[in-house]
Order: sequence, then C-alpha cells, then structure tokens
Amino acid sequence: MWRAVRLGIATQAVRTVNWVSQRSGRGSGTVIGGTVGLFLAPELLTSLANDRRVILVTGTNGKTTTTALVAAGWDGDVTSNDTGANMPAGHVAALARSGATRVVLETDEAWLGATLEATSPAVIVLLNLSRDQLDRASEVRQIADRWRNFLAKPQAEDAVIVANALDPLVVYAANEASNVRWCATPTSWTADTMSCPRCTEPLLRTDDRWWCTCGLAQPTLNSYLDGDVAVVGSTRVPLALGLPGVFNRGNALMALTALDAINVDLGRAASRMSSVGEVAGRYGLRRVDGQVVRLLLAKNPAGFAAMLEGLGDVHDVWISINARVADGHDPSWLYDVPFEVLRGRRVRCLGERRLDLATRLWYAGVEAHVDEGRPAIEDRVIDVIANYTAFSDLLKESRPC
Ligand SMILES: [Zn+2]
Repeated sequence: MWRAVRLGIATQAVRTVNWVSQRSGRGSGTVIGGTVGLFLAPELLTSLANDRRVILVTGTNGKTTTTALVAAGWDGDVTSNDTGANMPAGHVAALARSGATRVVLETDEAWLGATLEATSPAVIVLLNLSRDQLDRASEVRQIADRWRNFLAKPQAEDAVIVANALDPLVVYAANEASNVRWCATPTSWTADTMSCPRCTEPLLRTDDRWWCTCGLAQPTLNSYLDGDVAVVGSTRVPLALGLPGVFNRGNALMALTALDAINVDLGRAASRMSSVGEVAGRYGLRRVDGQVVRLLLAKNPAGFAAMLEGLGDVHDVWISINARVADGHDPSWLYDVPFEVLRGRRVRCLGERRLDLATRLWYAGVEAHVDEGRPAIEDRVIDVIANYTAFSDLLKESRPC
C-alpha cells in the first residue's frame, strides 16, 4: 500500500512541477518534473508504463519525426514525448500527463536498455546509427554492441523489432533477435560502415545490397519503398506525406512497419500520417525578423547528408552552427559533411561557429557569405539547416507563418 501511495505522490509531483515550470516560463515542462518524480520513486517509469502498449523509437537521426509519424498513424488516444525529451525523465512526463493506453516513446540511443526494461515495449524501432557528438557520446560501434546486449534482455523477447536493413550497424545489433521486420530505409551515408561491425573486414556493396565475407549481410526485406509507395509485407500503401525528402519517406516506412506489427490498418494510418506537416518546429514555414524560412534540423554528418539531399532546386541556403554542450564542443565534424553537393549554390553562414562553417565551405568549393549582423531579407522562402542549439535559438526567435 505504501508503495502505491509513494507512486501516486511521485506521479502528482511530475504533473505539478511540470505545470509550474511551464507557467513560470522556465522550461518546456518535460524534464524537471520527471526528474523529481524519479527521485521520489525510481520505479515510476515501470509503474506508469504498466498495462500500456508501448512503441519505442531510437536511432541517431529521425527519432522525433518517426515518433510523430507513428503517433499520428496510430488510431485513437496516443501519448508521446513529443518535445524530444528522450530520456527517462521525459518518458515519465509523457506518461504522467495522459492515461492513454497507446504510447510512443522516442528514446535516446544510449538509454534504449533502461527504457525497454522499464516499459516492456510491443515494438522497438531501430532507425540508424552514425557518428554523433564524439566529444561527449560513445563511439558508434560501442552503441551497436550495447544495442545487441539490450535486445538480449527478457523484456525484448516478446517485442517486434523493426530495423533498418540497409544500416550494417543496425543489422549487427538486431540480427540475433527472434522477431525482426527488416526495412530498406534509403541513405547515402556509409562512412560509419566501411568495415564490418562484426569482423572489421571491408564491407562489400552493390547499389542495392551489402555483405561481408564473415557472413554478416543485408537480411531479406520485409518493407521497402517503391517510389512514393511503401511496400510493407504484401501490402502496398501510397504515401502522401506533408514532410519533404526521401529521408522522411524512409521514416514513414519504418513507422508503418511498426504499426503493421500491431495490426493497425496501413491505408488509414498512411492517410493520418499525411497530416503531419511540421515536427517540433521543423519543416513548417516560420518568420524570423521578417524573413520566411523553413527550419531544418541536422546535428551530425549523416543528418546533414540527408537534409542536403532533400533541399531540391534552391539556389540560396542558410546554415547555422553552434558548438555548445548540447551540440558537442568540437565542430570538426563539419569536415565529414558532404558540403560539396552545395557547389553552385550560395550559402549564408550563421550561428556562433559561422566562421568554422565558412572555412569548411571554402575547402568544399562552395560560395559562402558571413554576415556579422542579420542577413538581408530575401523575397522567397529560405531553407535554414541548423544544428541543435542553433535550431533552438531560431525556433525561439521565430513565429509560425
Ligand atoms: Zn564481417
């Protein structure tokens, strides 16, 4: 009985602290309340997740968007950590604010083990793994090894694993799991998987397949894209996404495969997903200091590669780079980004590390401009790619159009 009382007090504390945090304007009200609740009752996440159907989404890039697509595609009352607070405090906050039995949780790559232990998910979506903030996060192969261990936990045994078959690190992590649905999620980024995650020999590739002489190889596909059609098992689902780029079509394919694993009607799910046009400030049109922009978030080389690929036929691009704690203090990762694809376009360099960016662009042969004040207003929508805190700053300074 005392346990139930303590859990009840902790749950109420999460709601109250987050409400105060939001009202006082001190934060988004998603982390501090969860931290207090977990301090009062460390088993709070397990308790709150009990008797709910949980889908976990993890990976280096695309977590927030895929989580939003799963939540939109799932019929009925769904709760989710939609602000991107993706560690246990954020999970607790999402579960404390709603009694919905359908739950989608974006989960930090390093926290997958603890989250799956606490929530016993029905589905785990493994998007991709690539280098990210190496000055403060683990080397990416260590994360793949940890995922492999996490997926051996008893709580993962009954889960359906939805995994990216085109990412050898993800395949290495998931290929011992018993129930995996393999998706072909296109990416041009292969720099973290030039060698085999299992034996370190060079990986072999053709346009549509990869393998290693040790036997690790691209698994048989369950889901793939055929142009704008998602093929999930034997079902063909036309996509009409409000989000741009092949990267987001891949995210939608993973989301639909996850929903298929729990028997959601895919035609209806895809139709509901088409209403997602903005995810946490990304992709929608916003106005900042009179300039209409479309904000795009990219935090690492693979994320940048995906955003650059999706730019389309635009001549002007703005890029904003910071290097604060949340970004990683070391901006040398800019040299891994394939900025050469921007040759022939004009790039305006913004953010606290705009000079580092301009230097990198100079080496890439790209026309780069650095403004010390605000850049001149253009009479058209400008795509702005920003890394983490640079994006947050722009989001705070801008308003939806
Ligand atoms: Zn190998």
